[in-house]
Amino acid sequence: MAKITGLKCAVIGQNPVVRIATDEDVSGFAEIESSKPYVKPQVLYYEKYIVGQDPTDVERVMLRIRKLGSFKPWGSAVSAIETALWDLAGKIEGVSVHKLLGGKIRDRVRVYDGAVRAPLKGHSPEDYAESVRGMKQAREGFTIVKEKIGFHSAMREEVPDFFYGEVDRGSLYINRGSLTEKGLAHIIACVKAMKEVLGDEVGLALDCGPGWSLTSAIQFARAVEQLNIMWLEDMITGDYTPYVLADVYRELTSATSTPIHTGEQIYLRQNFIDLIEKRAVRIIGPDPCDIGGIAELKWAAEYADLHGIQVAPHGTGNGLIGLAALVQMSATLPKNYIAFEYPVGNPAWWYDIVDGLPNPIVEDGFIKVWDRPGMGVGLNERATRKRLSEEDEDFFD
Ligand SMILES: [Mg+2]
Repeated sequence: MAKITGLKCAVIGQNPVVRIATDEDVSGFAEIESSKPYVKPQVLYYEKYIVGQDPTDVERVMLRIRKLGSFKPWGSAVSAIETALWDLAGKIEGVSVHKLLGGKIRDRVRVYDGAVRAPLKGHSPEDYAESVRGMKQAREGFTIVKEKIGFHSAMREEVPDFFYGEVDRGSLYINRGSLTEKGLAHIIACVKAMKEVLGDEVGLALDCGPGWSLTSAIQFARAVEQLNIMWLEDMITGDYTPYVLADVYRELTSATSTPIHTGEQIYLRQNFIDLIEKRAVRIIGPDPCDIGGIAELKWAAEYADLHGIQVAPHGTGNGLIGLAALVQMSATLPKNYIAFEYPVGNPAWWYDIVDGLPNPIVEDGFIKVWDRPGMGVGLNERATRKRLSEEDEDFFD
């Protein structure tokens, strides 16, 4: 029986990477969103709870630490440890992680773009049209793209009289309120400009908030009904909101045929119960790096499927190791799976330190599922060592 001997975390570039070491010549790896480089001490906090445990009994190890996390960003470390345990268990047993999760039900997984494009130059209809034109022409051949609008963009500051409220520039997602008639008309014009470019060839999803009043959310969702939007994400609560408000979502969903989506900030399957049982959204979007890991996400996806709800996993903040975890997990999700958010390596040297990814990674909007032990990718130790800061020099030791 293998035993866990230690837990390491290095911030490589901007991305915190977790390594679980064992008394055998094998380690498990997982990644945390690049927007959370401060989590290293948090990761190391869990070491004392898992040392000495058998890493192939993933759930038994998780029972020791799962209660010590919370909604985004405070579930990041627990989520990464769970995912690294699956990598480790697969390597020890000599099978792909998708086999450990029950086996794949698809040979390739659809992805959607939220990160490959150049950043938006501004927030006018022309800027949005140009941005999605870039996505449509990308060599990955995406069949779905996602764009940021409303309170999930600088529209709230750039568009005069955008909403009824004071603009707060200092804090993430603190702006909240009803849109003015001008604000609402501006967003609708931007969405129409994007649809004109994408036509019926590429689906358009919109990351919207959080921050909308229920009134504005219903007005907007109804106004775009004829445009067949893939989904409206996080209108009421969402990114970095430490609660769900399922009843408010239920009212929104009941009021429109446009699919409503949320869930990237939610920690643990239990916190999806309300949203799913009330059929408060049409699509859930948990992030494996925040919900508590990849098996945790699969449980939520299976429960959603029993209630007629689809799943489109969030994932733009994960890098290339996170990408491998998304591929392995998504291959096993039920038929309610739509696509996951495709993460890119940033900076570009990340592509030189990760071994095992296909080239090209995405073809015609899909990634072929690979069959190697664990996640099937690894950090090239020699190349990675050159990228380690002095503080993290002992990462591989
Ligand atoms: Mg989002």
